[in-house]
Amino acid sequence: MSEHRETFDAVVVGSGPNGLSAAIALAQSGASVLVLEASDEIGGGTRTAELTLPGFRHDVCSAVHTTGILSPFFRSLPLDEHGLQWIVPRASVAHPLDEQPAVMMWGSLEDTCAGLGADSSAYRNLVAPFLDNPEGFFGDVLGPLGWPRHPAMFLCFGVRAMWPATTFANWRFQQSRAKALFAGCAGHAVLPLDKMFTAALGLIFSIAGQVESWPVAAGGSEAIPRALGSLLRELGGEIRTGVRVTAAAELPAARVYLFDTSPDQLASIGKSALPGAYLRRLGRYRYGPGVFKLDWALDGPIPWRDPDCLAASTVHLGGTLEEIAAGESAMFRGKHPERPYVILCQQSQLDPSRAPEDKHTGYAYCHVPGGSTADMTDAIENQVERFAPGFKDRILSRHKMNPVDFYRYNPNYVGGAITGGVADVFQLFTRPVARLDPYTTPNPRVLLCSASTPPGGGVHGMCGYHAAQSALKQMPNFEPSPLLA
Ligand SMILES: Cc1cc2nc3c(=O)[nH]c(=O)nc-3n(C[C@H](O)[C@H](O)[C@H](O)COP(=O)(O)OP(=O)(O)OC[C@H]3O[C@@H](n4cnc5c(N)ncnc54)[C@H](O)[C@@H]3O)c2cc1C
Repeated sequence: MSEHRETFDAVVVGSGPNGLSAAIALAQSGASVLVLEASDEIGGGTRTAELTLPGFRHDVCSAVHTTGILSPFFRSLPLDEHGLQWIVPRASVAHPLDEQPAVMMWGSLEDTCAGLGADSSAYRNLVAPFLDNPEGFFGDVLGPLGWPRHPAMFLCFGVRAMWPATTFANWRFQQSRAKALFAGCAGHAVLPLDKMFTAALGLIFSIAGQVESWPVAAGGSEAIPRALGSLLRELGGEIRTGVRVTAAAELPAARVYLFDTSPDQLASIGKSALPGAYLRRLGRYRYGPGVFKLDWALDGPIPWRDPDCLAASTVHLGGTLEEIAAGESAMFRGKHPERPYVILCQQSQLDPSRAPEDKHTGYAYCHVPGGSTADMTDAIENQVERFAPGFKDRILSRHKMNPVDFYRYNPNYVGGAITGGVADVFQLFTRPVARLDPYTTPNPRVLLCSASTPPGGGVHGMCGYHAAQSALKQMPNFEPSPLLA
């Protein structure tokens, strides 16, 4: 790389949604930007591929873009002009239960509440206050820790979000249906549901579903980086793929460097440019559990016992709050539960381009201990079969990925962890380490912009956007030079 003798205002290492968002925010301010990507394709956790049979297009990682459609930064960009189209389902979530109709999170709050029996009012009262100003709410929730722009609403959120999901749901709701719906949403936290702050994700996803039903991207998740990359190029940015950066000396001269990488890669690549004490703190970063994922080519739709389930982009499998909480807790202690909590997405129900005519794709994963190589195929497929008898007969082909495969696929998924690191009370706001500005490092020219910074995992680009704001403050203070100089 160094023989190019070229200079940039900013170099971004990694082209995930955060790397591309950082690059766009910088280019919008007139900076010259180069993005370097290890893989042959941009996109990180947002790629799509024929993993099973020809004509079946599967999302390798992210599938449903709840935070994508609500991201303040994405919403500010003309991504539709660059080919991104969200497909919004009638329901965000279906949560099947044994021997009763599935609990549904419909697009309308009234319809959702209608299925919650005695908890109808409690659910409405929980979600409705945040629907008056959803843009304001998601602007604060997807921002770094600081004084919120809408303090009253944020306080109202904070006093609920701080609780363990189990405590909160048991206090708020009387019946199993609303409790299960809330637990399914909170389960995305990849934490035991009796940990403080796990109610936060339950609440965020419940609110999100009543603002915009959880969508998929037309044509596959790869449409997101494709649109971001196209916009970046239009703004004058440059992207090079197939370039895995391993040391600071490989980077061209620039004023600032932004890393859309894991903290351990930042430490490894930037070791000559960062103080030892900071490197040691990065070394103590906790990545958390991994995932085991299956993709299926299916001979038809999933034969749910309750056909309403077909209306949802996402199906939470795991039964009651108690069952989901027990499974997630066991998983966090290093076990592989027989009946895991499973997140299932059915993109082809919404987007016919994902599978040949009359065929379908299926996508499901469960959380497993970091680095696990256990095969969870039977456990996941049994959970589907439990609520959709005859499902297994529809499988034409399957593709498996365990945490080791995920790490090999993307070096940001350390131990197979998909959210950029544990988002518990100790690491939620202080990722990767406790600093006033979490995107900066002790070297003012080196910044982190990946999901290992606030607001954390998910395809929303907000980590990249906020990191770019920090980088823009530093840029005028430096002339372009190699990182080691
Ligand atoms: C199975 C799974 C399911 C998920 N489901 C969802 C979902 O439904 N919805 C959702 O919103 N999110 C989901 N996520 C999470 C989401 O994909 C991530 O949070 C998001 O992609 C993080 O973006 P990022 O830009 O921080 O990093 P990444 O997307 O991981 O991108 C980082 C990029 O940097 C590159 N890179 C790393 N190191 C180097 C290097 N040294 N040199 C050059 N390039 C490098 C990588 O190749 C990669 O392309 C899922 C993730 C997984 C794995």
